[in-house]
Amino acid sequence: MTVLTESSASSESPTGTESSVVFDELAALLPASQLMATDEGASYYRDQSDGTASGLPLAIVFPANTEDVAAIVAIAAAHHVPVVPQGARTGLAGGANAVAGCLVLNTTRMNKIIGVDRDDQTATVQAGVRTIALARAASAVGLFYPPDPGSWRASTIGGNVATNAGGMLSVKYGVTGNFVRQLTVVLADGSVVRTGQRTIKGVAAYDLTALLVGSEGTLGIVTEITVGLLPAPAAAFGVSATFATVAEALAAASVIVASSRRPSVLEYLDGACITAINAYDPASALPAGTAALLLIQSDEAGRAADDVRTYAETLRAGGATAVVIASDAVALDELMNARRLLHPALQAVRGASLNEDITVPRSQLPTLLSSLEQISAELAIPIAVGGHLGDGNLHPIVGFDPSSEVDVAAAQEAYARIIRLAISLGGSATGEHGIGVLKQDHLDDELGPVLRALQERVKHAFDPDGIMNPGKKL
Ligand SMILES: Cc1cc2nc3c(=O)[nH]c(=O)nc-3n(C[C@H](O)[C@H](O)[C@H](O)COP(=O)(O)OP(=O)(O)OC[C@H]3O[C@@H](n4cnc5c(N)ncnc54)[C@H](O)[C@@H]3O)c2cc1C
Repeated sequence: MTVLTESSASSESPTGTESSVVFDELAALLPASQLMATDEGASYYRDQSDGTASGLPLAIVFPANTEDVAAIVAIAAAHHVPVVPQGARTGLAGGANAVAGCLVLNTTRMNKIIGVDRDDQTATVQAGVRTIALARAASAVGLFYPPDPGSWRASTIGGNVATNAGGMLSVKYGVTGNFVRQLTVVLADGSVVRTGQRTIKGVAAYDLTALLVGSEGTLGIVTEITVGLLPAPAAAFGVSATFATVAEALAAASVIVASSRRPSVLEYLDGACITAINAYDPASALPAGTAALLLIQSDEAGRAADDVRTYAETLRAGGATAVVIASDAVALDELMNARRLLHPALQAVRGASLNEDITVPRSQLPTLLSSLEQISAELAIPIAVGGHLGDGNLHPIVGFDPSSEVDVAAAQEAYARIIRLAISLGGSATGEHGIGVLKQDHLDDELGPVLRALQERVKHAFDPDGIMNPGKKL
């Protein structure tokens, strides 16, 4: 398993003449403000995952546009230097972590919204634009960009594309990839291509856009993105409900999913998540002393209020102990903001956490949750569970004290067992965070040898010298 070991990568890094040649070439290409020496840039070595390995980079570069990226990658290719693309480093799988001797290519200065086209209902942005900025630019002209990962105030669209990020609204609208139409990509030799098309339809040749979505920076660097947009939805109504047992919460959610109504949000928090979030940010004020909480919304034009009233009745009939309807944007935001604190709040409880991102078919959720309780009891390690219940995509969070060897070993064992459990239930190790360096050990269980080899050949076709984010994803 690759977790919980910091590589002492400085000894492996290219040193001396070759590194300084590369640095000099970069310095001749970029203004000083776009090039950072390793000793100044420790905060760029890694993402927000705990305990994943990272190496010491050769330098950190901040390109401003596609031309900068192409020129940087051409220099890297000429010297066989690895390149690690990086957005806002909100990743939770170590995908953006530096590897020894690499160029960290951080896209956050590529933050221009190139255009929002009302007629075609598309937006084109540079990769470093923050997710929330794209959503706001669309909203300003009456359009809607739905993918809203919990990290959307910070995460970049490039990072969202590279991880195929989901979010609270995925249960109704799908994930980032469902909105990506066209990508400008710098390939491993520095050449620039544009994949896909601006139109809704297009089947010329293989769908490389879909292949690049979720490729975690291992096939190329995305520099510009065109997404499709939707007309703005109706103002949302929401309902929250608490339950004395997890089983009742799951059963009530199943009734809602099976109905003809379509929630735009169907999120879940267990009692441990609620306690952690309230402790992390007392303003959250989630209802305490309960086994499970469901957060459900509707943004359906003309019937959002009616949907939510019906959901409330279903929840009460399913045994909910408290049901609260929220009809104004402020109350809804408060609930969703509290939900978005899941990861940092759980990280704070024991000092560190391993964040799972498993998916299972929705019918398997009861088995999954009861088995998680068993794993937690057997290994004497806390596992809090929250996430996107409507997608069958939950985030069991294994809390541990990083200074305790016993805790670290139990957390690692729990982490591995949970992934095996999800796969055995017909699910996956990752629904939205990606494989990064955290979950590679489990890929074979999911793929099998033939698919694994095919995936390696795809990687080789894009990146024959293996310089694009090496050691990640596969
Ligand atoms: C509090 C919190 C809540 C979160 N909630 C969600 C959630 O609800 N849903 C969800 O899906 N994720 C969630 N995440 C995880 C994370 O925010 C997403 O994976 C996000 O898409 C990462 O974006 P980023 O810009 O931070 O990318 P980074 O973390 O910097 O990079 C992520 C991966 O993308 C690659 N990459 C970045 N930019 C590019 C590029 N331009 N070209 C090619 N490769 C690139 C990197 O190499 C790396 O492999 C959450 C994280 C946090 C901390």
